[in-house]
Amino acid sequence: MLRIAALIMLLSCLTGPAGSNAAAVRLTPEARSLPLAQSVSVFEDPGGSLALADVQRRAAEFRPAGVADDAAINFGYSSAAWWLRVELAADPGAPRDWLLDVAFPTLDSVEYFGPAGERLATGDRLPFAARPLPHRNFVFPVRLTESGAGTVWLRVVSEGTLTIPLRLWQPEAFWRDSLTSYALLAVYFGMLLALAVYNLLLWMSLRDRNYLIYVLFAASMAVGQLSLNGLGNQFLWPHWPAWGNLAFSTGFAATGLFGALFTRGFLETRRNLPRLDGAIIGLAGLFAVCAAAPLVAPYRLAAILTSLTGVTFSLLAVLAGLRCWRAGQPGARIFLLAWAALLVGVVVVGLRNLNLLPTTFLSFYAIQIGSAVEMVLLSFALAERINDLQREKDAAQGEAIATRQQLVATLQHSELDLERRVAARTGELEALNARLRENERQLQALAHTDPLTGLANRLLLDARLDQSMQHARRSRGQIALLLIDIDHFKAINDSHGHAIGDEVLRATAERLRAAVREVDTVARIGGDEFVVVLTALGGAADAERLAEKLVAGMREPMRVLGMPLECSASVGVALFGGGVLTPAELMRRADRALYAAKEAGRGCYRMFAA
Ligand code: GH3
Ligand code: MG
Repeated sequence: MLRIAALIMLLSCLTGPAGSNAAAVRLTPEARSLPLAQSVSVFEDPGGSLALADVQRRAAEFRPAGVADDAAINFGYSSAAWWLRVELAADPGAPRDWLLDVAFPTLDSVEYFGPAGERLATGDRLPFAARPLPHRNFVFPVRLTESGAGTVWLRVVSEGTLTIPLRLWQPEAFWRDSLTSYALLAVYFGMLLALAVYNLLLWMSLRDRNYLIYVLFAASMAVGQLSLNGLGNQFLWPHWPAWGNLAFSTGFAATGLFGALFTRGFLETRRNLPRLDGAIIGLAGLFAVCAAAPLVAPYRLAAILTSLTGVTFSLLAVLAGLRCWRAGQPGARIFLLAWAALLVGVVVVGLRNLNLLPTTFLSFYAIQIGSAVEMVLLSFALAERINDLQREKDAAQGEAIATRQQLVATLQHSELDLERRVAARTGELEALNARLRENERQLQALAHTDPLTGLANRLLLDARLDQSMQHARRSRGQIALLLIDIDHFKAINDSHGHAIGDEVLRATAERLRAAVREVDTVARIGGDEFVVVLTALGGAADAERLAEKLVAGMREPMRVLGMPLECSASVGVALFGGGVLTPAELMRRADRALYAAKEAGRGCYRMFAA
């Protein structure tokens, strides 16, 4: 890209006027510095073999450089040795000591022949220490003879661009001006250094490849500019002219390489602009070849190729930036502004070289300013891109969190729902269980109860009797079985009706229950027959006492449905005090005793006797 300026300068040179030898430069006492371009005559020695004496003999073949006053003489790329001649004529009172400034530090070889025939040789192929004055440019002390007139000769050879900006200075003015230019360059390189270090740190923490490429881009740009400005020769590689000679071309080729890689990575051209991406890769490859080429091929070839690749890539980068900007890609706008800044700088310098723009601070340092602005904007674009990517990531994360929260809420809801349903079902089951238990209890009760009197029925009696007998066997206790039958019950039924008979049965049940303890069993086993089982009996007397009590109780007059009734019952008693007796046998014994009581006239009890 910087080479656009060189090309424009070359054009301006080719279109310049031609004619006879240039006039002498008038040195006045007031002049602080004088541009020499218009006063220079040039001679081309294609073979590069002529000595000063040879060209002095062919003085007539010199012709004016034909360059505008403030422009630089430019021969573009040339393998010839170029001779420049300037006639100096000092006015009376003008100083005799001047400085000749050749402000293009990448020239390979610059030989100076002074008015008194003194020869000074320098150039970036010689160590810095060989320079007559320690300056980033090639600066020669010019000492005029007493007459005030003199001729200065320069022989310049370079594989790079043969740009030769010439200016004659009064020493004090020169050093004063140098202070300013060094300071400005220091600011520029300080800024590049800060951006490079800053982005290097960012790369170390973010590990985004673009930052590293940016750092390499900035570093290569710094190397190219250090070489272009001569500061590299003076401060960084003063003893290494072989490198100093290559640094310019290699530095800018590497700038192009990393600029192309940065453009690829930053605009993601592989994904966004697949066709341009191929071209950018191709140019990056060319830049890489340019950077390495001077090692094996002539330096000039590499320099020319770098210039052409640079121009092509600049246009391509702007095109890619435009396309990405229109596609709304993050950071593309700033990327475009950055490249535009550098291009504007280059164009301004070109226009200034063509004398279409005045030489001012801005136009003189336009490339530095442009590249500085570019570097700052690209660094900013990187930050903005990271921000955009972060925003996209945050949005995606937010969405994921919202989805997860929704899922959790749904799960919680269905869990609650499930719990509610399980609780409801459990309640239903418990109610059902309770009902079943109640039903079972009722069934059990029904199965064991006489419906008319509520007493135990035959089934329950059998169980209780069996249980009581076993217990009596184990505990060596005694139990009594009392069989009770109402006397002439048929007659009650017959004379008062079945309903009254039922009431008599109920009343009898009440009386029996009232007569015994809670632990004793009272059962109705059919018709007018009842049974009492007495457990934990003290002895036969207890049984007899109860039998007597029952007989007496039954004789008590009853009132049934408002009707007075006389009633009696007979009781048969059988005792059990252990042994092999079965319940059925015990029952038969009681029945025999009852029969005996009936035989004895009813309304009495009888104990079973074997
Ligand atoms: P005995 O003194 O010899 O016992 O004379 P009895 O009349 O009481 O004769 P028995 O005990 O053999 O008669 C039982 C009668 O009880 C026969 C039947 O009509 C009557 N009976 C049986 N079950 C019921 C009942 O549930 N309700 C009523 N009201 N009468 C019943
Ligand atoms: Mg009876």
